[in-house]
Amino acid sequence: MAYKRSVYLKAKEALDNRRAEAQRLQQQRHAEAAQACPAILDAEREMAACGAELIKIACAGGNTQEQLAALSQRNLDAQQRRAELLKGAGFPADYLDNVYTCPICKDTGTHGSYYCKCYLDLIRQTAKDCVKGAAQLKKCTFETFSLRYYSDTPDPALGGRSHRKIMENVCAYLKHYADNFTPGSKSLLMIGKTGLGKTHLSLAVANRVLDRGFNVYYDSAQGIMDRLEKDHFGRGARDEELQEDLYQSDLLVIDDLGTEMVTSFTLAALYQLVNERINDGLPTICSTNLTPAELEAVYSQRLTSRLLGTCDVLQFYGRDVRQQIAGKD
Ligand SMILES: [Zn+2]
Repeated sequence: MAYKRSVYLKAKEALDNRRAEAQRLQQQRHAEAAQACPAILDAEREMAACGAELIKIACAGGNTQEQLAALSQRNLDAQQRRAELLKGAGFPADYLDNVYTCPICKDTGTHGSYYCKCYLDLIRQTAKDCVKGAAQLKKCTFETFSLRYYSDTPDPALGGRSHRKIMENVCAYLKHYADNFTPGSKSLLMIGKTGLGKTHLSLAVANRVLDRGFNVYYDSAQGIMDRLEKDHFGRGARDEELQEDLYQSDLLVIDDLGTEMVTSFTLAALYQLVNERINDGLPTICSTNLTPAELEAVYSQRLTSRLLGTCDVLQFYGRDVRQQIAGKD
């Protein structure tokens, strides 16, 4: 359970930039304040002297409690004096300290012997920003998924259940799946016509799984095929990043299976990808507008039975949500 190395490197770079920017701002403010009120420098000299004194006392050893208490008071007095001087010169009292994005770790990313929450949040956000379709990912969460576009009229063909009831169950299943996801989770096959929320819910799963610290790769079937094709007909050896994204990610989401150009190459490549992940025990979520019979006709009996035999199949019902929103219906 880990994000890609490139995610950590990008997050580290963002943290370094944050810290450098804070230091730059502090220097700028310091020059500005010292010019307006040079006595600030005296207070700071006193603060620095206290620091040097502290080291001396600590090295000398013995009973230092009283000396340390007096020194601490001297230091606090100097800080207080600087704050008052700043205020007197028209600056906020914390003008020189309030430069960090995270005041807890002062943008170092560590707090004591732990990573600071700000850094963990930054890594998580970077992982999301690195997902293909990051803007769409942001919008498609369980919280933004609405059941009101699904009819609540009981359908005799569905044992008296309404589309809304079925979709409510699908949604609950997926939330549970995402909240309990591990790289050993089952693969999923989402089946249903266009506009029934398959992309939205697969991204909602991706969102939550990413939040929980797992590595997710998401793309349309066409995008994935293009990448595999480029790699195959390119340099020969398998690209390391492609290997990491498609074959090793904790969760792979293949959106809109069946809309891509199917050639003998994509047919073989898709089977190899799906099969290799299944053999490695890594889950894949596929969504498709095709029925199992159509899947078999487009791809092969081999791939279809591999998918149906290993995936939990979720059938989506309803009327095209996008058309309803657009008011065409
Ligand atoms: Zn922090």
